[in-house]
Amino acid sequence: MVRIVVAAEIVPDEHRVAIVPEVIPLYIGAGLQVVVQSGAGRYALVADEAFAKAGAEVVDAVEAATVDVLLHVRPLNPAVVKKLRPGAITVGVCSPSSQLAAVRALRDRKITSFAPDLVPRIARAQAVDVLSSQAFVAGYRGVLEAAVRLPRLFPLSMTAAGTLPAAKVLVLGAGVAGLQAIATAKRLGAVVAAYDVRPATVDEVRSVGGTFVDLDLESADGGGGYAVVRSPARANRQQELLTPHVAECDVLITAAAVPGRPAPRLVTKTMLRAMRPGSVVVDLSAEIGGNVEGVRPGEEVEVEVRGGGVVRVLGLKDAASALPVDASRLYARNLAELLLMMTKDGEIVPDFDDEIVGGTCLTHDGVVRHGPTAALLRGGT
Ligand code: NAD
Repeated sequence: MVRIVVAAEIVPDEHRVAIVPEVIPLYIGAGLQVVVQSGAGRYALVADEAFAKAGAEVVDAVEAATVDVLLHVRPLNPAVVKKLRPGAITVGVCSPSSQLAAVRALRDRKITSFAPDLVPRIARAQAVDVLSSQAFVAGYRGVLEAAVRLPRLFPLSMTAAGTLPAAKVLVLGAGVAGLQAIATAKRLGAVVAAYDVRPATVDEVRSVGGTFVDLDLESADGGGGYAVVRSPARANRQQELLTPHVAECDVLITAAAVPGRPAPRLVTKTMLRAMRPGSVVVDLSAEIGGNVEGVRPGEEVEVEVRGGGVVRVLGLKDAASALPVDASRLYARNLAELLLMMTKDGEIVPDFDDEIVGGTCLTHDGVVRHGPTAALLRGGT
């Protein structure tokens, strides 16, 4: 019987787990066996007993040589890959462009690796889309991080002691994370405005309760839900036009990204200095270079503003991992959808001609199948 194995994550501060009890019956129903390392669900609040009750075998240590399919959250360490048997399958986020040593190890060990972070953004692939599911969690978390730092309340409040105005939140980048940030800030009672370079987001922003900031600039829509890199002139003009909107908000959330590129720089130090003291900035793109000048992933920096006082700038890091219960639920379901797509009669039989299966396959039989990653390796970078 094919053994699906989940080991405890080894990256410090990674609290998610690649399987939850709800999906175990799906694997078992497809004729697969599930093995989970004891303690793997500790931070996601899944006890060993819950895994066992759902039908998994719980083991103290994972024997790499006996793994048929390894499910993981973080990109695998090359040392772990080298212990797997050739022909084994791995399924989990690979972030290949920044993990070339791991990609080489997967290739050289003849592992068939599936990276759901490479999934094509087509409607049929939505259930497999880990970037979306984890961005959804991050968008929510970003707003909460801002709310606890803001020295004011979010909602308009009429009390016996007087009326408090609603806080103003500006969201830049209205993809999955940005839209969830808008919805969350709105639920907390803030007045929310947002901007994105793709015209399709105008209605999406409005549908979650935000006002779209129209800068009267040409679109930078690359199709398929993605933006393209802007010309320097357009980037400068965008900054110029956004400056008064940034200056006016109490909370700025940035969540802009361009696939395969460092995060676009949307907010300069000069723009930050024009904000009101006490304002809070949370950059959800901090780990991919940051939308805000001077942001540092996982850190909070203070920027002095013109009139005196400071703005706090937080570079959000590991946001989904900070909410491991629900992030794991979504992630585990994404992986199950992908793996079950390739399971027939208890065997894993990937059809590489399928757009989703082929698109997520990073390495197979000693070959790096993902074109951009193969090109990076050829370039020796
Ligand atoms: P992303 O992380 O690549 O980018 C986030 C947002 O930043 C995008 O909306 C983008 O337009 C915006 N952006 C880029 N440069 C900008 C700039 N200079 N200024 C302002 N905004 C900028 O995208 P994402 O969140 O992963 O997905 C974007 C969209 O793709 C989603 O909203 C959805 O419509 C679509 N999508 C479809 C599927 C699917 O059908 N399977 C899955 C996921 C996403």
